[in-house]
Amino acid sequence: MKKNKEIVIVGAGPSGLSMALFLSELGYTPRIFDKKEAINKHSKALGVNPRTLELMKAYGITDRFLANGRKMHAVNIWKADKHIFKNDFSKVNGEYPFMLIQAQKESEEILLEEIEARKIPIQYQSEFTQFSGTKNNYTITIKQEHSFQIDCDFIIGADGAKSKIREQLNIGYQGFRYDEEWELFDIELDMDLNPEEGHIRLFPEGGMIMIRLKNNVWRVAGNLKSILNYLPKKTSIGEIYWESKFSINHKVAKNLVRDNIVLIGDAAHLHSPVGARGMNLGIEDAFISSRLIHENRLHEYNALRRPYIETTVNRINNITMGMAGNATFSRIIRNQIGSMKMLFPIIMPRVRNFVLGLDK
Ligand SMILES: Cc1cc2nc3c(=O)[nH]c(=O)nc-3n(C[C@H](O)[C@H](O)[C@H](O)COP(=O)(O)OP(=O)(O)OC[C@H]3O[C@@H](n4cnc5c(N)ncnc54)[C@H](O)[C@@H]3O)c2cc1C
Repeated sequence: MKKNKEIVIVGAGPSGLSMALFLSELGYTPRIFDKKEAINKHSKALGVNPRTLELMKAYGITDRFLANGRKMHAVNIWKADKHIFKNDFSKVNGEYPFMLIQAQKESEEILLEEIEARKIPIQYQSEFTQFSGTKNNYTITIKQEHSFQIDCDFIIGADGAKSKIREQLNIGYQGFRYDEEWELFDIELDMDLNPEEGHIRLFPEGGMIMIRLKNNVWRVAGNLKSILNYLPKKTSIGEIYWESKFSINHKVAKNLVRDNIVLIGDAAHLHSPVGARGMNLGIEDAFISSRLIHENRLHEYNALRRPYIETTVNRINNITMGMAGNATFSRIIRNQIGSMKMLFPIIMPRVRNFVLGLDK
């Protein structure tokens, strides 16, 4: 194996940017390509978990995240307007007993600032179209105004849910898709819910998550149709900053690595946002796989990482089922949530450790 590894990262989302940072710390200068023009102005992820804060601490990123984001210390569960349970994150052990609320755009901006400070080359409007070659000797084609080719030893597939790299490797996803659409709003709200905490509100027909982003702008998302009709009583609605729809997939790539090509982040696994794990898992993928590349052990990545990812996605599905879908089990949870209250002190400490990424 050559000492100097030429590494190309396809995708400058949170997974690709973190990978570049971790590799740079290990002495490499990867090249990053992304087809988009710049960081997206709308943010999917809001929750940065303590595991990510632990991983990013050594790179000076955690301090910047903490200075920018908001600490959310609890999530409440409601049956419509009736309060059922407060899951208090401050009860977890560790340095960061909270979920940091920070728009994905801002997390990416902070990571990008560090990438640029380290002079890691990153090119936008640069679409990966194909690769050829085998282990240690790849040629990849990038399309800008004109196409060009570069040689490399490793390819990092951080190119998201529709990963062309995964497609070209002919690696399928294992899993399923919920047959329902989720609505999403980033919207100004004036109401009585505690703005410092998160809220999950369950109704017989589905559920919604409500988390304040900044000022009086809240993220409202869930599988209820015309979801704004389910806001707490006496809520006043202001400006809508983003309105979107998405569907839930629970899928894991059948293999995460082939020779010197590794799939990380959404290119490798998809699941509902209910556990706030997606971006955080992608950052963990980057941390682990960067070390394996450095130690010439990338071939071990699938065996080391995939069982954990699979278990995680299954557990996220168990949590999501309380909100999503029309299965009997889901409806029972939503209808009987009040009478399940006595189980919560047993279940919820495990749920909060899981959601906070402290189940490692
Ligand atoms: C509503 C919602 C809420 C969420 N909330 C949370 C949360 O609170 N916490 C959390 O951890 N996760 C959350 N997630 C999940 C999180 O947003 C994703 O897991 C995360 O964005 C994945 O990062 P990534 O870098 O792997 O992929 P992406 O963010 O999708 O980035 C992939 C990049 O690859 C680029 N790309 C794609 N194809 C090519 C190509 N051919 N050539 C060049 N570039 C290419 C794209 O332009 C993109 O920039 C949420 C998701 C949704 C939908």
